[in-house]
Amino acid sequence: MAFIRLNPLVTLVGGGVWGLSSECDGNVYLVATGGEAALVDAGTGIDPGRIVDNVRQAGVDRLRYIFLTHAHADHAGGAGAIREALGGEVLAAEPDATLVESGDDEALGLSAARRSGIYPARYRFPHTRVDTRVADGVTYPLGGLTVQAITVPSHSPGSVCYLLDAGAGGGRQLFSGDVVFVGGRVSIINAPGCELAAYRNHIAKLAGLDVQALFPGHLVVRLTGAQRHVSAAVNAFQGSRLPPTLVSLSIPEHPDSTPEPPSGQRVLRSGRARG
Ligand SMILES: [Zn+2]
Repeated sequence: MAFIRLNPLVTLVGGGVWGLSSECDGNVYLVATGGEAALVDAGTGIDPGRIVDNVRQAGVDRLRYIFLTHAHADHAGGAGAIREALGGEVLAAEPDATLVESGDDEALGLSAARRSGIYPARYRFPHTRVDTRVADGVTYPLGGLTVQAITVPSHSPGSVCYLLDAGAGGGRQLFSGDVVFVGGRVSIINAPGCELAAYRNHIAKLAGLDVQALFPGHLVVRLTGAQRHVSAAVNAFQGSRLPPTLVSLSIPEHPDSTPEPPSGQRVLRSGRARG
């Protein structure tokens, strides 16, 4: 069991890069305030019990919400198992919500991700029911504070950022999923639904939010002065150069992954083995 307290409201309870949960998990955040709690993202579902244990150790036994930023397996795969253990309404935006419920490997981007060695070959996405379809601008009450959904089709067509307004004391805190990262990085990947044009058309919704903290779906967080990191990506899309992308930094080499080579290579390999 382990967790990292990031500020008075937000605790990191999952994430492979931190050694908090499965190596394949993206960051999983626990928001607890006024006697209520929510998760933002849920990991892959490879070992969801570790995340559940971390939440309990952080002092929370019951969730009100499990906010999903998008359908990719490293963020959404654990939602069903965690709801079973800790309760909570699972929320996601269309069309990703439908993928969480019934998307095939191709639509989820899992086939390509497996070939890249991102997930173990045996991994299967644990589909689960989404309780609430998130709509842009809707605000969810949480322990006297509010969490607002901002849909940003970009990294995936149903990507959502969640804006926690912690008032004068805590400021605005943005859970950005894989839309934008510290340093103004973005995540443009070769997956169905990840569209450069969508990034160009929608990322400006994150301009002018005056966010203090940025909690992305991977790697480091930013606790103060975060808006300029978000704005760096927004501004890049006003010009002709792409912002730096996260992908080359974020792919873990899973030790027991066995990427399937194209059929031509497979023939070549068996030929070599015989020789
Ligand atoms: Zn993603």
